[in-house]
Amino acid sequence: MAKIYLIDVTNRDGVQTARLGLSKLEKTMINMYLNEMGVFQSEFGFPTTRHEQYYLQANLELAAMGVLKPIRLAGWIRAMVADVERAFKLVPKIKHLNLSVSTSDQMIQGKFQGARSREDVVSMMVDAVEAARGHGAESIGVNAEDASRTRMDFLVRFASAAKEHGADRFRYCDTLGYDNPFTIYESVKTLAENVGMAIELHCHGDLGMAVANSLAGAKGAIDGGQDAHINTTVNGIGERAGNADLVATALAITKSKAFAAKYQLEKPINLTKAWKISRFASYAFEVPIPINQPGVGANAFAHSSGIHADGVLKDPENYELYNFNEVGRGEPELVETGRAICSGEYGGISGFKHIMGKMAITFDDAAQAEEVLELARYANVEAQKPLIEDELLFIAKYPEIARKLLTLVPLE
Ligand SMILES: [Zn+2]
Repeated sequence: MAKIYLIDVTNRDGVQTARLGLSKLEKTMINMYLNEMGVFQSEFGFPTTRHEQYYLQANLELAAMGVLKPIRLAGWIRAMVADVERAFKLVPKIKHLNLSVSTSDQMIQGKFQGARSREDVVSMMVDAVEAARGHGAESIGVNAEDASRTRMDFLVRFASAAKEHGADRFRYCDTLGYDNPFTIYESVKTLAENVGMAIELHCHGDLGMAVANSLAGAKGAIDGGQDAHINTTVNGIGERAGNADLVATALAITKSKAFAAKYQLEKPINLTKAWKISRFASYAFEVPIPINQPGVGANAFAHSSGIHADGVLKDPENYELYNFNEVGRGEPELVETGRAICSGEYGGISGFKHIMGKMAITFDDAAQAEEVLELARYANVEAQKPLIEDELLFIAKYPEIARKLLTLVPLE
């Protein structure tokens, strides 16, 4: 039986969202947390973008060290030979890529303005797949941007050409969030049956159906005999109305009525890490978690009305579908209400030693403390807010990796 894999795209779709962004250290922490949760793959960034190169290289080093393992790290580029060449030049050790191109008539005409035909799009993609293979890419996904508005006959032809030339997955992008669960099921099942290749579901929430469409699309892929890869983001942060929320998607797959009896994750997701990753992403993006967010919202396990409170006190299953412990809630949290010493880009050694001492981190000598402090200052320059404990611990534990991923070199 085919299975469902989760590919989180917070570090690609999430960070390209208007008004929002993450520092390179924050992106790295997202990769670390996704790995702890057991997410199959992180789309960790843009290997053709110069300011990403040291961050991407540093994260690939963490993978080689066994720190970011078993998660797979994949880059996103346009399906063009020039982009493939540039990706392998800037990030030579990249092994997994998704290559993207628009496939709908709307976008081929509206974006390329007559410069490219549908056939040009296919040959561009095929050339890019072959170039990526030539550079030793271990896995290649091919993305059809605006797939939900693309003619099915062309989509089958496009995906079949990708497969023939060595691509491993086909990403069905509902770029505008136009599908509904009924249409995406039919489209993806048709593709799975006619192309015979694993299918990724990339769904957006413009009509409020990103999670529902992801499940329906996964069902379509599996009913068509193929593995399904669902794209998620932490807290659903992504272009416009966002993407399928990671925690909500994992909950929907495992807890919704009868779904998991037939459609299963390839490997369980450790949902007890949900609280931590959601809170971190909220802090890092500076976007509050909505009060009614599934699993991690302040009201997800709150009851006040008489009938509900009485019912849940007698038996939680009366009004709760799953327990708060399952999503990592219920632990008391220490909140400082008095004096606070924070990390900052202009911080000094005394305050820094105080912060690290609270976490029981000691240094071998003054030089080592000064070095870690210097790296923390640079991390603060990027983040523009105090670092959290896990970030400081990361810098202290992997100073050379931190040095690399904090390196920005704007001049050629
Ligand atoms: Zn997207």
